[in-house]
Amino acid sequence: MKHDKGMVIVLSGFSGAGKGTIMKHLMSSYPGFYHLSISATTRPIRTGERDGREYFFKSRQEFDEMIANGEFLEYATFNGNSYGTPKEYVTQLTREGKDVILEIEVQGALQVRDIFPDALLLFVMPPSADELKERLVGRGTESSEVISQRLAISARESALMPRYDYLIINDVLEEAVCEVHGIIQSEHFATKRNKSAIAMMQSQLKAFA
Ligand code: 5GP
Repeated sequence: MKHDKGMVIVLSGFSGAGKGTIMKHLMSSYPGFYHLSISATTRPIRTGERDGREYFFKSRQEFDEMIANGEFLEYATFNGNSYGTPKEYVTQLTREGKDVILEIEVQGALQVRDIFPDALLLFVMPPSADELKERLVGRGTESSEVISQRLAISARESALMPRYDYLIINDVLEEAVCEVHGIIQSEHFATKRNKSAIAMMQSQLKAFA
């Protein structure tokens, strides 16, 4: 069935909840279904990351210029670094009827909802807070100081979880990936997302009224 238009999908979740892994598996399990927005950030590049793949890595000055030029759909500060979603890619793809996923933190997610009221907001969390801590420690990419900071941020972010449309508990990865895909695909059938099909049917039925 052909649906009205592409969706803006926001995937947020605590640092260490497995958003990135879910995204990677979603993209490889359902090729062609989703387009991933690549953000710009001032945070230093991590080992294994590549400029233009995980992020567009920018200096503070470059990032500020992008803000001044109105190039961001949204931007926010996370743990002292700036992160922003370039506007052009998202607006272009949704215009073409494609689904675009933004993997961003909570302040940015709420900005996106203001701009695209029909955006679908998904929140990923692990089964427990202890599990979250274990995953962050096990990842081995951050110092214990940064891990503590990230857990404190998670505690603050949790206040905004009810503002999201769906909650995904990332216990078994494959299940979480299936759930994210299922939720997005079901959302395409929502009546509010199919106004032109409804209008067309109503108009055709006038002939029988
Ligand atoms: P990390 O440094 O671990 O890659 O990302 C830190 C946080 O920034 C994560 O919660 C990630 O989802 C979020 N983030 C990444 N890109 C963006 C963005 O463009 N905008 C906003 N608001 N948050 C982002």
